[in-house]
Amino acid sequence: MQSLTNRSAVVERKPMNWVEKLYLPGILKGMLITFSHIFKKVPTIRYPEQTRPFSKVFRGLQVLNRDEQGRERCTACGLCAVACPAEAITMEAAEREKDEENLYREEKYAAKFEINMLRCIFCGLCEEACPKDAIYLSETFAPPNFQRKGFIYGKEDLLIPNPLTEPEAYEKAKGERAPVTN
Ligand code: SF4
Ligand code: SF4
Repeated sequence: MQSLTNRSAVVERKPMNWVEKLYLPGILKGMLITFSHIFKKVPTIRYPEQTRPFSKVFRGLQVLNRDEQGRERCTACGLCAVACPAEAITMEAAEREKDEENLYREEKYAAKFEINMLRCIFCGLCEEACPKDAIYLSETFAPPNFQRKGFIYGKEDLLIPNPLTEPEAYEKAKGERAPVTN
């Protein structure tokens, strides 16, 4: 039969000698490889009890940020949604009422803010586009889920806890990648 390349090699089936027929050398060689791995550093980690340290430039789950007074920074301008190459962000804007100045920093706020984590590629362009430091990518990642709708993150999932009413939860959620804001 004509060969398509010149890389084919003819394989000859050599008859086994009496040592090979005992199979013991082969078994011992295999055991030696197995035992040699016992003393090597284990490359696997026991997740979720253990986690790997992430790179400083790792971009994970988005956080909707608040200011130091606990007010939501997002003004629902939509720039993050326009910048998003995966079209993963949707939002609905609302007008701030007079008695809501302690809740929202600007006159407009996001009544609804959703990110589809199945679309998101964690590129960080939403963070770059935001003029209000209202969104940033943290060093955590979206946990697994059995259903698609579990990956649609709403405001309740994304909004950071209030630093005035829940200071501990706020510090924990803030992480290392929080932008320096004023
Ligand atoms: S990280 Fe990138 S893909 Fe994900 S929501 Fe932000 S802009 Fe879109
Ligand atoms: S997160 Fe930032 S860019 Fe996106 S709508 Fe809010 S203020 Fe605008």
